[in-house]
Amino acid sequence: SRAWHLVARPQGWPVPADFALREAPVAQPGPGQILVRNLYLSVDPYMRGRMNDVKSYVPPFRLDQPMDGGAVGEVIASEAEGIAVGDHVLHGLGWREYALLDAGHSVVVDPKAAPLSAYLGVLGMTGLTAYAGLLEVASFQEGDTVFVSGAAGAVGSQVGQIARLKGAARVIGSAGSDEKVRLLLDEYGFHAAFNYKSGPVADQLAEAAPDGIDVYFDNVGGEHLEAAIGCMKVHGRIAVCGMISQYNETEPSPAPRNLAQVIGKRLRIQGMLVNDHQALRPQFTAEVGGWIRDGSLHYRETVVRGIENGVDAFLGMLRGANTGKMVVSLAD
Ligand code: NDP
Repeated sequence: SRAWHLVARPQGWPVPADFALREAPVAQPGPGQILVRNLYLSVDPYMRGRMNDVKSYVPPFRLDQPMDGGAVGEVIASEAEGIAVGDHVLHGLGWREYALLDAGHSVVVDPKAAPLSAYLGVLGMTGLTAYAGLLEVASFQEGDTVFVSGAAGAVGSQVGQIARLKGAARVIGSAGSDEKVRLLLDEYGFHAAFNYKSGPVADQLAEAAPDGIDVYFDNVGGEHLEAAIGCMKVHGRIAVCGMISQYNETEPSPAPRNLAQVIGKRLRIQGMLVNDHQALRPQFTAEVGGWIRDGSLHYRETVVRGIENGVDAFLGMLRGANTGKMVVSLAD
């Protein structure tokens, strides 16, 4: 069985030499445990933070140990009550082919209700992030004008569509290619969208939102956050979900340089962690599941095949190679 290890702490952008795919024997489950053959592994932006040796809301990856993260797989041996061989489970021991874990650290998922990879994305962690971030953290109200960055990604594409389905007056998105911008407009129903690489974000946002924005859902930070603050209406709300433009920087960003506008505009800027919003999960699953079934919410996934390509998938996601959730498939 192979697993990806972090072997050096990246300085700035991670490089392939910071990782190694290593063999380890597969042990049999003890009492209360299950052995899972992983079928889909999640690669997520927050994992970049775990590669640094700093205290944060999740502990850093340990060097020369298997990395971990979201995964879905099939139970191939079980010593746990209530979980049978052949069941599918969502759990936290990704980045490896086989996972041995206490059954209590897994959730059984139904492969007939949704494709297995959806439990990592649209119906999983990133989906709940979008739903909770928009509705609870940003206090979205019908009639709001909403701007979301990273809008063709897993979280962002769902934020924009939930806002539209919940009656936003206008939904604006930014993404890193013209093709992604077209997807936002043609398939996801955004009212306006722009490629942040084709000009200053502040100018493009001002053009897309001439009357200003009520909500900014931040996945990016830096220049995007500064542009959004400049474009906010009075009493606007900013949900700070992520700042991916900063994760590989070695120097702090000078932006936003206009934070003083928070006062006159009486803005609310609030950070979020999806784990604080688990209570919303049943409502999220019901509502988003319904939208997927009736075709009103669309989603893409970028699937990279093979454990040996796991690190490339992660690095590709950081550079924008993905549209929607980036997953690694180990399924045949
Ligand atoms: P995505 O699917 O959005 O993938 C990351 C995307 O970020 C890339 O596709 C790329 O798209 C974009 N990107 C990379 N670098 C930059 C840059 N310098 N400027 C602008 N965009 C950039 O990932 P997720 O949906 O999983 O995550 C989105 C954000 O949400 C991240 O910031 C993540 O950390 C955060 N997050 C936070 C959670 C929380 O609990 N707070 C939970 C889950 C996610 P492009 O081609 O458009 O550049």
